[in-house]
Amino acid sequence: MPHDNPLIALLVIGLGLAFVLGTLAHRLKVSPLVGYLLAGVLVGPFTPGFRADQGLALQLAEVGVILLMFGVGLHFSIKDLLAVRAIALPAALVQMAFSVLCGLGLGWLIGLPTGGSVALGLALSIASTVVLTRGFQERRMVDSEAGRIAVGWLVIQDLITVLVLVLLPLFSLFQDGKQPALGALLLLVSETLAKVIAFMAIMLLVGRRVVPMLLHYVAHTGSRELFRLSVLAIALGVAFCAAHLFGVSFALGAFVAGMVMSESQLSLRAAEETLPLRDAFAVLFFISVGMLLDPGALLHEPLRLVGLLIIVLVLTPGVAFLLLRAMGRSWNTSITIALGLAQIGEFSFILASLALDLKLFGQEVRDLILGASILSIVANPFLFRLMQRYRPWIDRKDGILPAAAEDSAAPAPVLPETDLTGHAVVVGYGRVGRRVAEGLRDAGWPLLIIETGEGTARALEAEGVEVITGNAADPAVLAAANIAAARLVVVAIPDVFEAGQIVVQSKAANPSATIIARAHFDQEVTHLAKLGAGIVVMGEEEIARTMLAQARAIPATAPIRDEEAEDAGDTATDDHAKIDLVDPPG
Ligand code: AMP
Repeated sequence: MPHDNPLIALLVIGLGLAFVLGTLAHRLKVSPLVGYLLAGVLVGPFTPGFRADQGLALQLAEVGVILLMFGVGLHFSIKDLLAVRAIALPAALVQMAFSVLCGLGLGWLIGLPTGGSVALGLALSIASTVVLTRGFQERRMVDSEAGRIAVGWLVIQDLITVLVLVLLPLFSLFQDGKQPALGALLLLVSETLAKVIAFMAIMLLVGRRVVPMLLHYVAHTGSRELFRLSVLAIALGVAFCAAHLFGVSFALGAFVAGMVMSESQLSLRAAEETLPLRDAFAVLFFISVGMLLDPGALLHEPLRLVGLLIIVLVLTPGVAFLLLRAMGRSWNTSITIALGLAQIGEFSFILASLALDLKLFGQEVRDLILGASILSIVANPFLFRLMQRYRPWIDRKDGILPAAAEDSAAPAPVLPETDLTGHAVVVGYGRVGRRVAEGLRDAGWPLLIIETGEGTARALEAEGVEVITGNAADPAVLAAANIAAARLVVVAIPDVFEAGQIVVQSKAANPSATIIARAHFDQEVTHLAKLGAGIVVMGEEEIARTMLAQARAIPATAPIRDEEAEDAGDTATDDHAKIDLVDPPG
């Protein structure tokens, strides 16, 4: 059966296993990524049992890369990119040159020819876009200074990879003792550059106008389905055309599509529309990486593998850190970016496969690159956790060094704890939370908002409201909100599972705080109350109550004209808001 439906089999078994192992990893307090990679190894060709279709997995993984980079682009304006170019461009170039040199040295040590050593160095010099952006998104750091520089860095690496992929075949000519004609070489380079520039120019000049116009048009149709479809069609379509017409990578194409879309007011909605798909496909990316690994191959050449890992985990991040420090970035920003770059992934596989095809090196070197990639991806969350352990030390360093003052203006990459005490924490600043927060602020409460939406959080910050961007179900986020010293916690989010987690953690951190939670069904009310919410408000009940109160105000028998009915409708909306804020019924 799985052989008749390879796509369905891959999705069902791959995602199912990833879910089980990811949950297990989560329980063991390890990053779920480890679970996803392991699921990939299990459905891969090198372990017994079910073997998923590797070609399909790789294609699905590409969709993951596209959606991820599209999401990053949506939070990134052209201005942001230009703002970090002074740091990202030179730093990325020097870091890549340094990593290639390290790879060259290692290549010579293990007896590779020059062409092979350069290819190895190149493969080790490029970080995985997916791992870095996913890690930063998970830690809500894409919008921070570190996040912006890191994304700029990735864009430069990506552009260089596009060039390298075109130029790599020339190395094989060198290796065979032939000299490629200089004219042909120049032609190849300029052709590639011209295509990249043409793509960027078309997107920035035409796309920037047409895409927002198209989105606005679709939004006016009022169809959610069409809007979702338009967002997906644009993201995938631009990435596909970028790759097939202009030779740009899918990742870069999608990033630019997102960036162009972010010019439109609707970009936030667009971002939210792609979230569920993005997450599912990102998991498929990790599964596909796991599938490539032959666990036995890891053990063949342990010393060589250690050599590769030293370059990826120590030397590359080391030089990135030093460069950033030299450019006046804080310890925090420098370490965060350096750790983000301490891994290799999809681009390295592509380069390694091409180098293998060109016979620049053998299968064993490709396996080593794969092994180094998987181990570095697994190590990445641990490195960040280690950084978290040394947080006070890093903060002290930043406190001493003058660079810290400059950085304090930028959003801190890792959550600092609020100074508020006796405050109210409102979780979720949507239709419900916004009204509650406004009321509380008017009533003089010291207020802190926790909101996942980066755009909403930014807008709140601009208004001077204290806000933590992040998922309140994350213990680190709740700790930063100083729940232990809060007097009131209002959980105004619609998802009852997350709300439940927030209630449990808040109750544990502060048993005396009043917790008010939001529910939509009777069972949710019982669930949240059982978990520790003192008051649970069921939205539907309150809507019914207010509707009934408004309806009762209208005499049951009196005839009414159309205009009066309209007036009654208008007042109803206003009153509804007032009733919610000032005098909750019941
Ligand atoms: P609404 O349903 O319109 O009240 O919107 C709910 C709001 O809560 C949205 O702005 C979400 O971004 C936000 N939100 C949802 N889940 C969480 C969460 N776990 N932590 C923080 N904010 C959240």
